[in-house]
Amino acid sequence: MKVQSLSIPEKNPLPKVEIEDGEHVVGEFVGDGNGPTVLVIGSIHGNEPSGLLAMRRIAPELRKLEQQMKGRVFLIAGNTRALQAGVRYIDADLNRHWTPEIVDLNKPDSSIRTNRVEDIEQRELLRIFERVFITARDEVYALDLHSTSAESAPFAMIGDTLRNREFSRKFPATILLGIEEQLNSTILEYINNLGAVTLGFEAGEHGDKTAVENQEALIWLSIFNAGCLSKEQVDVEKHVTTLRNAMGDPRIIEIRHRHAITQADDFRMEPGYENFQPVRKGEVVAHDRNGEVKVKETGLMLMPLYQKLGDDGFFLGREISPFWLWLSKVVRKMGIPSIVHWLPGVTRDPFNAESLVVNTNIASIFPLQIFHLLGFRKRLWKSGRLVVSRRKHDTRSPFRNSDDQVTRRN
Ligand SMILES: [Zn+2]
Repeated sequence: MKVQSLSIPEKNPLPKVEIEDGEHVVGEFVGDGNGPTVLVIGSIHGNEPSGLLAMRRIAPELRKLEQQMKGRVFLIAGNTRALQAGVRYIDADLNRHWTPEIVDLNKPDSSIRTNRVEDIEQRELLRIFERVFITARDEVYALDLHSTSAESAPFAMIGDTLRNREFSRKFPATILLGIEEQLNSTILEYINNLGAVTLGFEAGEHGDKTAVENQEALIWLSIFNAGCLSKEQVDVEKHVTTLRNAMGDPRIIEIRHRHAITQADDFRMEPGYENFQPVRKGEVVAHDRNGEVKVKETGLMLMPLYQKLGDDGFFLGREISPFWLWLSKVVRKMGIPSIVHWLPGVTRDPFNAESLVVNTNIASIFPLQIFHLLGFRKRLWKSGRLVVSRRKHDTRSPFRNSDDQVTRRN
């Protein structure tokens, strides 16, 4: 384990990060191995060093507490080769690299070897994940730490499972619900499908000193909220204050729309947009090769793109009510999602247990919100038919013998 003294500048430029090829493990801490697991992944984007820097600051503290720990903590650096170069990625975005096909290609037992840098990185990470998941004896919580290209208040992101929602609500945070379903093949989607509870975090602007502090606070609170360490060992009040000061009052914002882009679009965001800024339907927020880009509905501007690389121009969101959250929890606990195919025009997807095929001629009377309520957020058009999918492992953990603990806490 490499621990270095860190001096972080107030603002850009990014601190230079020293890391070896494949030096993913920042620290591994095992107390009582029968307890829960916290898997922290930082800097899967190489131009976002704050995750790695925060893990390096925490590692020596965790070493002192290891004997008292209930469970395990793994601190894992993401794209080590891109971190050295200070770039988001080298050959391919490592956070869009987790399709079943690419993962199969890079599995430890695969005989195929490619030279793409991110294939090598993924192969190394898969070996670590395999070890972590095979040995888990209780719930697994996974964090993915990021930062933003523009100045922004921090926020957390979750895929819409009840288990993710329950965990995320223990943090004093702004939470974006359903963003994972808008992005394909992210590392958290992969890990969520392995059965872990997942939480993504955007800690602030790349290279900003406070981004590192926010990452640190979030990691400590995750370890505490997972039950690995107690209030005697973690300064909960301090970390809650750090996040509250950075984020304001906790709220939950539902993702309504993603403006996807490609390099060929020549997408240019209008200057001056901030994260969470209110926008009105029809407002011109960007330009591309076809001219003006207008927002489709009134809501909140999320993650406007002010850097060259990336395929998300911006997102639109809307704050959701506690009533809606309560209702969706009730209907899911009742098992409604598994009988929703009884509705006219809705059938099960024979190829995927978590998907429904919707005949939009017949089922157009059901607003999309109904499917959202039941957890079916991912939309895909397949040969003229709408396929909606939900996350696996909505209410039950595959790492526990029963879901008693989860149910009780609800
Ligand atoms: Zn990122």
